[in-house]
Amino acid sequence: MTEYDVIVLGLGGIGSGAAYWLAKRGAKVLGLEQFELGHARGESHDHSRIIRYSYFSPAYVRLAKEAYAAWDALESDTGEQVVFKTGGLDIRPRDGAIPLEPYAESMRACGVPFERLDAGEIRRRWRAWRIDDDIHGLFQPDGGLVAAMRATAAHQRAARAHGATLLDRSPVTAIAPSDGEVSVEAGGERYRAGRLVIAAGPWTANALAYFGMRVPLEVTKEQVIYFESRDLESFAFGRFPIWIWMDDPAYYGFPVFGEIGAVKITQDAGGKPVDADTRGFEEDPEITARVTAFLERYLPGALGPVRLSKTCLYTLPPDRDFIIDTLPAHPNVSVAVGAGHAFKFASVIGRILSELALDPPGRVTLIRAGTETSFKIDRPILQMEAPPKTYMV
Ligand SMILES: Cc1cc2nc3c(=O)[nH]c(=O)nc-3n(C[C@H](O)[C@H](O)[C@H](O)COP(=O)(O)OP(=O)(O)OC[C@H]3O[C@@H](n4cnc5c(N)ncnc54)[C@H](O)[C@@H]3O)c2cc1C
Repeated sequence: MTEYDVIVLGLGGIGSGAAYWLAKRGAKVLGLEQFELGHARGESHDHSRIIRYSYFSPAYVRLAKEAYAAWDALESDTGEQVVFKTGGLDIRPRDGAIPLEPYAESMRACGVPFERLDAGEIRRRWRAWRIDDDIHGLFQPDGGLVAAMRATAAHQRAARAHGATLLDRSPVTAIAPSDGEVSVEAGGERYRAGRLVIAAGPWTANALAYFGMRVPLEVTKEQVIYFESRDLESFAFGRFPIWIWMDDPAYYGFPVFGEIGAVKITQDAGGKPVDADTRGFEEDPEITARVTAFLERYLPGALGPVRLSKTCLYTLPPDRDFIIDTLPAHPNVSVAVGAGHAFKFASVIGRILSELALDPPGRVTLIRAGTETSFKIDRPILQMEAPPKTYMV
């Protein structure tokens, strides 16, 4: 039996962030990952994830400020750039399903600069948009992307440099709480720690079951598509922003970034429910067809042969708010669920998990962001048998 201060279950984007912040604080940390580090079976694998201040509530905007600061700290610690600003455009038809006003109002309330753009100005700045005059947008210059795989690897490297032990191919197969401690079996070994952090992404339900807890989470199989666009130049990094089409369906995309040399575009939350263990990895032709039809209409220059489509999982609470909390009956066990939009927050959620583990009740950052109640694991919607689903972007 080996003893640690904290065990982190799962080393995807969030668990790697937690291992980093915990080890940096001086805790003796063990991170356990069931597959190889950097694997493609969870939620965090790919070259890029959007980061933005533009959110529909001031609490998320404040959390985004904390997120940028956490990435800055990782960059200073490792000397590696992981956040790349491209500018961010939220764009929508006048009758689009997602109103822009809450996004504008939240940024205004938090002192985040942005511009309102009409269709003419959008076409003037980015000639690739073929949009009618009824379309308008918000532009926020600090929007951009986090180099996801690179950021997760940087968290892991820095966690190890601060003394953490990170084990891959070590599936956790038993967890037993006892006397304010937790013992965990993984890869044929038993480990004991004062605290446990659950960062299991699509496998969260399995981990919570050891504590007799059930939370309504839907796991869906999403996909991103890399197009060898016919007008690659218009989508060059530094020329084209990240963007989100604020309607139902919602689409989003990136400029050319990373070694693939293609334009990444897809639909948000367009995937079907799956089981994380039995899911397939094949392309969903319905998503590809919807994205292609969208591009034919609004961004035809982005179209071209599909270089690659990659599948990936979302773990969705019904309100699409995160879960970041300790378990009510086990205050030494904390959990984070990313709700399909958490990579941008992976480092700050890791920091919050370190606060929950090391400074109980540990809600400093959650309180500063105004999110101390909205991310609770026992919030009313998570107690409902058949909760209504709202998957805002
Ligand atoms: C297609 C797609 C696009 C996205 N785009 C964005 C975006 O633009 N911006 C943004 O902010 N977010 C985005 N997200 C969401 C974001 O990527 C996720 O919220 C985030 O990566 C969640 O990280 P995680 O660590 O919770 O999950 P994961 O990365 O899945 O990590 C969980 C880890 O736990 C491990 N694990 C589970 N059970 C066990 C066990 N029993 N023993 C050991 N290990 C275990 C798993 O193997 C896994 O590695 C996107 C997600 C997808 C799928």
